[in-house]
Formats: sequence, C-alpha cells, structure tokens
Amino acid sequence: MELQPITFDGVENKRPMVIAGPCSAETEEQVMEAAHALAAKGVKIFRAGIWKPRTKPGGFEGIGSEGLAWLQRVKKETGLYVATEVATERHVYEALKFGVDLLWIGARTTANPFAVQEVADALKGCKIPVLVKNPVNPDLELWIGAIERVYNAGIRQIGAIHRGFSSFDKKIYRNQPQWHIPIELKRRIPNLPIFCDPSHIGGKREFIAPLSQQAMDLNFEGLIIESHCNPDCAWSDASQQVTPDALEQILNNLVIRDTAQTTEDLSDLRRQIDNLDNDLLELLAKRMRISKEIGQFKKEHGMTVLQSGRYDEIISKRVAQAVSMGMSSEFMQVVLEAIHEESVRQQIEIMNK
Ligand code: PEP
Ligand code: MN
Repeated sequence: MELQPITFDGVENKRPMVIAGPCSAETEEQVMEAAHALAAKGVKIFRAGIWKPRTKPGGFEGIGSEGLAWLQRVKKETGLYVATEVATERHVYEALKFGVDLLWIGARTTANPFAVQEVADALKGCKIPVLVKNPVNPDLELWIGAIERVYNAGIRQIGAIHRGFSSFDKKIYRNQPQWHIPIELKRRIPNLPIFCDPSHIGGKREFIAPLSQQAMDLNFEGLIIESHCNPDCAWSDASQQVTPDALEQILNNLVIRDTAQTTEDLSDLRRQIDNLDNDLLELLAKRMRISKEIGQFKKEHGMTVLQSGRYDEIISKRVAQAVSMGMSSEFMQVVLEAIHEESVRQQIEIMNK
C-alpha cells in the first residue's frame, strides 16, 4: 500500500502522536472544558464521539450532528484538530461539512463490510486521515479488509487503532489485547501507523498507563486516550476516562525507547531465541509423534480420540506448573489448547487411515 504519513501542521512528528478527549460529546460546556484543559496540557488532536454505538438500547447514543458545531468551536477557540467516529454515509458527510480533521471507523463498524464499504464510498475524493479500529472479533483479515476498502476509496493517510478484542468470559481487561494481532498487521502493512487505544482495551483507568507503555515498547506510533474533566460523571465509559491532569502524568511518565539502535546489540540474544525456537519445534514434533502412537493404540482398542478427563488433567497440571515458572495461566492455556487441537487432528488422521 502506498500510504502517506498522517501529519498535521504544527504537530511535531514524534512518537507517540496523541489523540485525547472524551468518549462522547455530551454538552457544549463539557466539550469546551475538556478541549481547553487538554490544549493546555499540550494535546493537539481532540477526540469526541458524536454518534455512539452502544451495545444495548437505552444508553446515551451520542448527541448527534448538534455536537459537530461544538467541535467547530473547539477548533476555533483552541486550535486543536478534531476527530470523531463515523459509521454511516451520513456521518461522513456531516463530519466533513463541519470541518472534522480526522475520522475513525469504530470496532463494531469494522466488523461489518457493508458498513465499511458505505463509509468508504462516502469518502471517495476526500483528503482526510482515517483510522480503522480493529473489529470486535480477533479477525486480522477483516481488519485488513476494512483498511483496503478505505484505501480503494482513494484515502492515503490511513492508520489503524488497536482497541482489543471482546471475549465471552470477562477477564481483567475489558477487551483482550492479543498483541500478536496488531504486530502481525504491522508485518503485513509495514508503513501503516498503529495507534493503541488503552482506554477501550483496559476498561479501567488504572490500566491506561501500563498499556500505553506496552504499546510504546512495541513501537506503536500513537495513542488515543479518553479524557474527561469529570470522568465519574461521564455519560459513557465513565470508569476508563482520565482527567486531563492524569493524562498529562501518564504521558510524562512514558519511556519512549529509541528504536534505531537496537538491532546490533540484540543480535546475540536473537540468535539464542532462534536456537530455542528450534528446540521448541523439535520437542513439539516429538510430542506429536507420541500422540500419533497413542492414536494408533486408541484405534486398535476402539477408544475415542478425545478422552476429556485426561485433557482436563493435563491442562490443570501444566497451567499450575507454568504459573510457578512465571508465565501467565492464560498464556499456558492458549498454548496447551493449540497443541491439543493439533494432536487431536493428527490422531483423527490416524483413525481414518
Ligand atoms: C470509542 O472510541 O469511543 C468507541 C466507541 O470505541 P470502539 O469502537 O473501540 O468500541
Ligand atoms: Mn468510549
């Protein structure tokens, strides 16, 4: 993809590029108060949701077009650039009419190719930066597909926003980061800037600082963080918004590591990792061979492939072992499930021979 960098006059081109502002535009006073406070902290790009996709009806679904005039006032009074979410053709036309500087496509929209195509069609012929959030489900191809639809509409300043992936069972984060997905996105489209949205990943304000640091350590280009002058009273996402003061502190405490000079010093460690990966692969292959022998035995004795008692035992023992070795139980569970799935596949192959 021939992308152009996302730049704004007067905004320094250094990591992280920060977009901050309330989850939703609620009232003119709330928007202006947040904008002035954030501008005073050195923020240059202001976010506010005008149309809010809510999981259930009855919540605050956004102030709608009326709020666009407030964003226009923000631009005039503070010099901030303004950004909002668009999900339909009408949103795009309205946002452009009111001079919004940057648009993003929300996670629920990215998951729907019809909606993304509608937005992309409305963007044809425009010159505006567009950020594409990951879909709610962990589907990299769907994310890339949405980016391609925007690209095919002629938009060249495109970025991605990593906001985590929803899951059925609630874990510590509101949305699971699954960092390997944005990392793979970067491998597939190397010149695509990636913003991290620690607010929607974390779901709680205490997670914003560590998640932002992690994103910087993974070399993400930017951060989009929800900030509200009175977070506890916010009309949406109250528990994950931070005050402009707290935001300033989070940003000041970030350690931005130099990316240019690392490769040389790392080559020795990287060689060690390569060797260990080889060992791991060999071990896995050996384990699969034994699994196949077990498959052969099960076949000869008329047993089923899946012996769930045994599987449960393996999972709980190994997870406890992994935890005592300093790894997270979630990680070990994922690894064991993947290994088990491949073992089952190989045993089924044997059964059908
Ligand atoms: C938002 O940024 O306010 C938003 C609705 O986020 P997401 O699309 O990531 O849920
Ligand atoms: Mn929000």
